[in-house]
Amino acid sequence: MSASTTCTICQTKLQGDYCSSCGQRYLGRRVNAWDVIGGWLSGLLLPERSLLGTFRQLLVNPRYIVNNYWSGFRGYYLSPSQLVVYMLFVFGLHLALVNQEILGITVNVSGVSDSLKSFLSPQLFLFLLMIPMLGLSTAAVYYRHKHSFPEHFTAAIYLFALWAILFTLLYDMLYLLLGMELGSLPFWFFGAVFLWSARVFSPEGSAWYRVLLNSVLSILMLALIFAILLGIAYLLDPEGAIEQG
Ligand SMILES: [Zn+2]
Repeated sequence: MSASTTCTICQTKLQGDYCSSCGQRYLGRRVNAWDVIGGWLSGLLLPERSLLGTFRQLLVNPRYIVNNYWSGFRGYYLSPSQLVVYMLFVFGLHLALVNQEILGITVNVSGVSDSLKSFLSPQLFLFLLMIPMLGLSTAAVYYRHKHSFPEHFTAAIYLFALWAILFTLLYDMLYLLLGMELGSLPFWFFGAVFLWSARVFSPEGSAWYRVLLNSVLSILMLALIFAILLGIAYLLDPEGAIEQG
C-alpha cells in the first residue's frame, strides 16, 4: 500500500493491514475475481477461523480464552453469546434431523410435532437455567478468588456451550453414521463442564488432583443449590413440588 493511505472510515493513517483506530481491514489492492469466489467459499463452506480457533483454545487452554474475554479483548475469538448462537444452531439441526432429546434430556412438548417448538419447551428452559446455576456454584466454590458474578457467568456460558456443541455433534455423528447411541450423555456432559470450569478457576499450576477435587466440589455445590431451590419450592407450594418430584 502507498504511504499516504488513510482509513476510509475514520481517516486514520494506515500502518499495516488493520486500521489502528477502528479495526477496518485494508487488503492493499482492488477487488478481484478471487474475492468474489473466495469470499463466498470461506463464508459458506469453511468454518470461520475464529470458530475453530476458539474451540481449539477452549479445549487446550480454557483459562486463556476466558481470561482474554474478562480482560476486555474482543473480535478475535468468539464471545460467549456468539458461542450460544452456534449452540442453538447445533441444537436446532439435532432436533430436526436426529431426535427430541438434547444431551439425553427430552425436550419434546406433548401435542406439538414441529421440532422448532422444542425451543419453547419448559425442559429446554430448565436446561438453559443450568448456566446461571453453574455460575453460582463456581462463585461459591471459588469465592476467595474474588471474581465478579459476570465473570463467573461468562465462564459458565463458554464452557456449557463448548461441551453442549461437541457432545451433540459427537452423538449425532455416532448416531447417523454408525447407528450407535452414546449412553449416559448428561453424565459425560456435566462431568466435562465441571472439569473445564475447574481448569479455568483453579490457581495456575495446580496439581491435577487439586483440579479434580475442585470440579467435584462445584458439582456438590450445584447439588446443594438445587436442594435449596427445591426446598424453597416445597415451602411455597408443597403439593406442586411433590407432583413434579
Ligand atoms: Zn479506521
